[in-house]
Amino acid sequence: MSDSRIDYLRSRIRDVPDFPKEGILFKDITPLLADVEAFRTSIELIAERLDGDRLDVVIGIESRGFMFGAALADKLGIGFVPVRKPGKLPAATYRAEYELEYGTDALEIHQDALRAGQRVVIVDDLIATGGTAKATGELVERCGAEVASFAFLINLRFLKGEDKLAGYRVISLLDY
Ligand code: AMP
Repeated sequence: MSDSRIDYLRSRIRDVPDFPKEGILFKDITPLLADVEAFRTSIELIAERLDGDRLDVVIGIESRGFMFGAALADKLGIGFVPVRKPGKLPAATYRAEYELEYGTDALEIHQDALRAGQRVVIVDDLIATGGTAKATGELVERCGAEVASFAFLINLRFLKGEDKLAGYRVISLLDY
């Protein structure tokens, strides 16, 4: 997407080398969040890219997906459902496990969070290897709902995370 608004958003992402460990170039979104123009623009652009899709619910992935997901849900005028790290959601949950570089991690959703046939957009700040997003898609489908789209502020394309989401619509604003 070539757009001066995109260039502005890109200028609000800070690269932090070797965080959380050596060799990782961390994309820090806190300057973007602190800039109301940039934060609003990011939500507007994601909403524009989703335009025309019938959507019933926004799913936000803990924790940076909550910030963008909740703002997007407000913008679209639909509800928000959190997907959380294990042990955080109080009622009965479904759990999906996914591979990390070393070992596995898991995410949970409330079993009654979605109704069959609802169309959802899954939101996170960034897609890297795609494992987190894929596990979230599995949780949504276990609830009987349909993944209409995945939406990210940032896509680290060189990690090919999108390949794990083959067959799904994937939107991202800033590609690296
Ligand atoms: P993945 O499952 O590999 O796609 O990882 C995606 C999750 O890890 C997202 O929730 C991101 O916030 C976080 N993440 C992974 N790599 C980075 C990075 N280089 N900079 C910032 N966040 C990252």
